Amino acid sequence: MGVMQPLPSARETADFLVQEESIAAPSGIDAEMVQEIETRKTPLRHWPHAVAELYYATVTSRIYQEGNFLFLLGLLTCLFTIVIDILVNPDMATEGLILRIIAVVPLTLLGLMASARGWTNVLAFCVGASPIVFVAVVIHLAVHLPPEIAPRYINVTILVVGLANVILPYSLRGLVIFDLSALFVTALMLALGGTDFLWTHVDTLLIVALVAAVTIPVAAQFEKLRQSNFLLTLRARIFSRKLLEANAALHRLSETDPLTGIANRRCFERRFEESILAPGYNGRTDDRIVLMMIDLDHFKAFNDAHGHQAGDSCLKLVARALVDIFEDSNGIIARYGGEEFIAALRVRDPAKIIPIAEDVRRSVATVLTPGSESNRSLVTASIGVAIAPAAAMLPREELIEMADAALYSGKHAGRNRVEVVEAETAFGARS
Ligand code: GH3
Ligand code: MG
Ligand code: MG
Repeated sequence: MGVMQPLPSARETADFLVQEESIAAPSGIDAEMVQEIETRKTPLRHWPHAVAELYYATVTSRIYQEGNFLFLLGLLTCLFTIVIDILVNPDMATEGLILRIIAVVPLTLLGLMASARGWTNVLAFCVGASPIVFVAVVIHLAVHLPPEIAPRYINVTILVVGLANVILPYSLRGLVIFDLSALFVTALMLALGGTDFLWTHVDTLLIVALVAAVTIPVAAQFEKLRQSNFLLTLRARIFSRKLLEANAALHRLSETDPLTGIANRRCFERRFEESILAPGYNGRTDDRIVLMMIDLDHFKAFNDAHGHQAGDSCLKLVARALVDIFEDSNGIIARYGGEEFIAALRVRDPAKIIPIAEDVRRSVATVLTPGSESNRSLVTASIGVAIAPAAAMLPREELIEMADAALYSGKHAGRNRVEVVEAETAFGARS
């Protein structure tokens, strides 16, 4: 039965509606579009393609959600009807059992397999085909029953069609196809019992048609309810996604320095705690924590000489150079404020610390080195470096204080310098 839209990624798409935490919405759907469908009561066939596709995906997802339950229900019904066979007509019980095993059980197993493997069309087919095959077996058995008992069996068709229209997780179109197939198979099986048999039980066919005609509008109402529920949920999801996105953007903004685009002080503080002080299983207790304060030298004079705009551009270039260095060494770098940057990293080999700091100093000095005859840097930085054993778990404030003290001594010693202070030792000066 071709009841499903061919949607390869239907399951994933439908997950959008199911998963609370999902913020990814299919592209091309916005809240206004959904609201317009709701207010104009647009029929499904005129919904914008992306929305309709998502809806069909939810129909598919319903088949997956309910498929296993329906197959279990079918198997239990089969077992139960075998008991009825034994009670009503023990002679036919064995044939009934065999027929059910070779007709209904394989379909059920195929359905379960399709459900596990994600074969949507096969699953949709099995969900509808199982009750129809069940009906066919029952009518076949009825042919061989005494005439006064046969109608009880044949009337099962009426019950199956009535129930199926209410519980099968199909779209309306799927249900119509199901009902027509059930009617056709019923007629065929009755005809196989002989023309007389068919005419004797033609009333059953009419009742099946009547039950289908009555239950389809009920199913249509359900479908309408499901559609409006879908639209409501979709709109709510779009809003919550927008909210989450706005929240994420706000969070990003609150942790970004607007001028340079790199992390700001707040971001540094968070990441320092998360990835430097407590780096999880990657960290070792004999690691060193290194914190650097990087302050541009005579930057006020730079601004005075070249203008504030040039100062801004210089800060951006310095920031980019610093990001390159600290990304390479798995460290973090942020603009601390004004012309001051702060960096931190966790190192295993203490011999690497000074070279990194020197690298920082050199790269700032080459950021604006004019190609003129003097070839002198237009901007330099002094760097205060604080080093502490990771095991000491020194608070950030203390490390900053140490690095600041080192920076101050670097400024006094003539600028464009790296000064180091280690937690357990006295000052060690370098140039
Ligand atoms: P020192 O070597 O002692 O650090 O001298 P300095 O001039 O760099 O230090 P000071 O603290 O006296 O001045 C800092 C200057 O940095 C003053 C200010 O104009 C400049 N500055 C701070 N933030 C910005 C900014 O966002 N853009 C620009 N262009 N300049 C800034
Ligand atoms: Mg300065
Ligand atoms: Mg400063």
